[in-house]
Parts: sequence; C-alpha cells; structure tokens
Amino acid sequence: MADVIEIRFHGRGGQGAVVASELLAQAAFLDGKWPQSFPFFGVERRGAPVTAYARVDTGPIGIRTSITAPEVVVVLEPGLLRTQPVTDGLRPGGLLLVNSSHPVDELVLPVVGRRAAVDATRIAVAHGLGSPTLPIVNTAMLGALVRATGVVSMEALGRAIQGFVPARRAENLAAAEDGYQDVRVVEGALPFTPSVPRAVVATPPLPEGPMATESSERYHTADWRTLRPEIHLDRCTRCNFCWKLCPDDAFGFDSEGYPVLRAEYCKGCGICAVECPPHAIEMVEEA
Ligand code: SF4
Ligand code: SF4
Repeated sequence: MADVIEIRFHGRGGQGAVVASELLAQAAFLDGKWPQSFPFFGVERRGAPVTAYARVDTGPIGIRTSITAPEVVVVLEPGLLRTQPVTDGLRPGGLLLVNSSHPVDELVLPVVGRRAAVDATRIAVAHGLGSPTLPIVNTAMLGALVRATGVVSMEALGRAIQGFVPARRAENLAAAEDGYQDVRVVEGALPFTPSVPRAVVATPPLPEGPMATESSERYHTADWRTLRPEIHLDRCTRCNFCWKLCPDDAFGFDSEGYPVLRAEYCKGCGICAVECPPHAIEMVEEA
C-alpha cells in the first residue's frame, strides 16, 4: 500500500495558503512522488479564512475528496486557532505546525502529539514578502514543514519556488531556508483550554455609514481581525474619510463628531489607516 501523506493548510486570503499547497505538490513531483493539491475557499476575500489541501504519495492517488483526517495541519495565521476548528480530524501522532512568534514549548495548542512553531511572519517581513499588515508567510512555512516532516526535500522545494513563484524568488527562497532553520518541534502538549472568543466592544447605536453591515454580521468578519485600528484623536481632523471609506461601516461618531470604532464590524483590513489624511489611525496588534 502506498504511503499517502495528507496535509491541510489554514490561512487567510492573501497569506498564500493555496500557493503553499501548490508549491508543495510541485516539489513532491520534482522528488518523483505523486502529488495532489486543491483549495477550498469560503468567502474569497483578503483576510477571509482559506483552506487548502495537499496529498503526497509514492504511487498514484485515487481519491479526490477534501482532507478530513490529515497527518499534518499547517496554520499560517495563529488567530485561526481561536476562531476555526483547524485541528479537526488531525490524526493521532500527527503534527500541528503553527506560525507563531512564541516558542513552541510555551504554546498551549489543542493537540496531543507533535507541535511545531516558526515565526514565519517575522521571516516574511524581513524578506519584504507581502505587506507589514498582511505578510506572505507561505514559503517560510513550507521550509518549516520540510524540516518537521521531510515530506519533500529542501532541494525540490527550492526548485519549485524557482520555477513557480511569480515574483521575488530569491526572497522566497531565503524565507524557506529561514523557516527550515528556525522551526522548533516538540512532542506532547500542554493542557488546552479553549479560549474565550475575542472580546468585542459593543457601542451604543450610532448613525449608519454609507455601506450595509449585513455581510460583516453574516460572516462574523470581526473574527478575521489580527490588527485593529487605533484612532489618535489628537491628530484627527474629523474629516470623516474613515467613515466614508470603511468597507464594513465600522465607524460611527461621538457627540463631538470624532470617529468611534464599531469593533464588532471591523475586519482589520487597514484601509482606514492608509486613507486617513493626517495619519491619525494606526493598525495595532489585536490584544
Ligand atoms: S480619516 Fe482620520 S482624520 Fe478623518 S475622521 Fe477618520 S481618523 Fe479622523
Ligand atoms: S480596518 Fe478600518 S477600514 Fe478596515 S474594516 Fe476596520 S475600521 Fe473598516
């Protein structure tokens, strides 16, 4: 019987989860194996949760279904551990690889078994991949995955990056190498207590903005947020641009006309921070 390895990637739109599964499949092919990769999109938008799958086998792969019992789960955005059932079906003895700035032996993760962590965000930012608000962490995570599993060779991953990444190949190669070097793997797990969902501060009824909030409510897009806007009122000129341009109607006003964030609708896209004329809005890490 063939030795199929099933890997499930969880990320957010724009982080490169789908490309990660494709690059892994390309690398497996270059190693002489039989690969398969395919994505599953929920709401296909920047910041939305995205799942992608990869199978690697030593022979032909007959199944075409999505992966419900993976050997490996790769989490490109650690906030997904709080909001998505990313470890569902992870096989006993399987590996959970997480993008985290914290040492792996300090992470409380919902698995019993192998855990690995790598600070792929730091690596991606250091190599100029993506933007500071949405770094493209996929190649750093793949380097870590290769080191932690050996599912493909590093040489094949390098060739896949050279051949199939459309831009910044040298930087992506360097990120993969850093991920390979920096990943740390431990066995066993700390006791896991599901965290309380992120506190969302409800605001009193406020005047409605120009856009409907229906999709924010339906898809709970506030759960996607990894960065949140912080308003520096000392610089705010009350121009209302943030209110006009927020795609999720996440701003109201206080009695003096200063903007108030309606955090229950904010998905953390950062548009308000980019567009605010006096730079009175700063995107800060979600507490
Ligand atoms: S865009 Fe900036 S200056 Fe204008 S109201 Fe919003 S925070 Fe204030
Ligand atoms: S980051 Fe700013 S523009 Fe984006 S959803 Fe939140 S409040 Fe709106």
